[in-house]
Amino acid sequence: MKTSFAIPEKSTLFNSVIDGYGRRLALVFGNECKDGQCPFYQNQCNHCDIGNGEGIQFNHELNRERLVFFKDYYADVLPDIVHLVIYNSGSTLNKLEMSPDTLFCISQYAASLEKCKIVSWDSRENYIKHKNLDIIVNNLRQDQQIKIILGIESQDEKIRMVNLKKLMSKDSIEKAFTVIGAYEDRIGIEFNVIFQPPEIIGQEAISEAIKTVEYGLNMSQKYKVPIDFNFHSYYPSRKSKAMFPNHPRAKIRDALKALILMKQAILQFDSPSKIFIGWQDEEHDCEKNKREAEMKKYLDVFNSFNSEQKLEILHY
Ligand code: SF4
Repeated sequence: MKTSFAIPEKSTLFNSVIDGYGRRLALVFGNECKDGQCPFYQNQCNHCDIGNGEGIQFNHELNRERLVFFKDYYADVLPDIVHLVIYNSGSTLNKLEMSPDTLFCISQYAASLEKCKIVSWDSRENYIKHKNLDIIVNNLRQDQQIKIILGIESQDEKIRMVNLKKLMSKDSIEKAFTVIGAYEDRIGIEFNVIFQPPEIIGQEAISEAIKTVEYGLNMSQKYKVPIDFNFHSYYPSRKSKAMFPNHPRAKIRDALKALILMKQAILQFDSPSKIFIGWQDEEHDCEKNKREAEMKKYLDVFNSFNSEQKLEILHY
């Protein structure tokens, strides 16, 4: 039984996996905003259950306790972590959702992990500002790269801003690249991409995923900001099921076709960008049986691709 909110629900305790950089671990901290929710959860993001948080407003002390819990729970893997990913059911760069004290504390801990070379932070575009980034930059080691995870989901404004109701304009995405570009290679961006977002399926969804990768690669070249991609196949969550009751979960066969073309686009751009197939759902997938069957069939393919990044693995 959970004795303190500092101890996370099992569903948010990610397993460490291997990605294109090495051993990766995602840590989910509590959201320090009102009701512990992402401020966009009530009025935006038709697809997202994660922003609902953990049912309690966190604060710095509780998040510090959570860090103590993580140090103990992941004691065996933390010394080998190369890529650390920080989530908080919202924006880690928003000081109302993650206080500067918490940001400082996590950054300092990440700096103490000898093998850790990359630290990724999830955030909405409007918090990507120098004063927020500087806390991280000034507290990580010089040899550690920072990445900001930006959930653009799709390059198409209609899909993002109308279908998903995620009010993130291309202008504001470009502004984020401008700010991050000032740090030269020290900070990169990761785009979250939803494969087969509401209202598009089949070949149209495949083409859309390619366009999103090409958009990211063009932005990366224009602003000299390294870019990676986190690929998520659409599944009905509680919120998206209510909004789009007839939109089906993504076909993994189509997802693999899209991934092949995405990888080819990266090779054509001669870019070092990596793709991470994110398959852990924090138990928000409403079709658990279908998920289980997919995992049984494809998990090895996902894991091999994540670690080796080789095109041929996707020809399954
Ligand atoms: S997608 Fe991100 S910004 Fe939108 S509600 Fe979810 S956590 Fe918040």
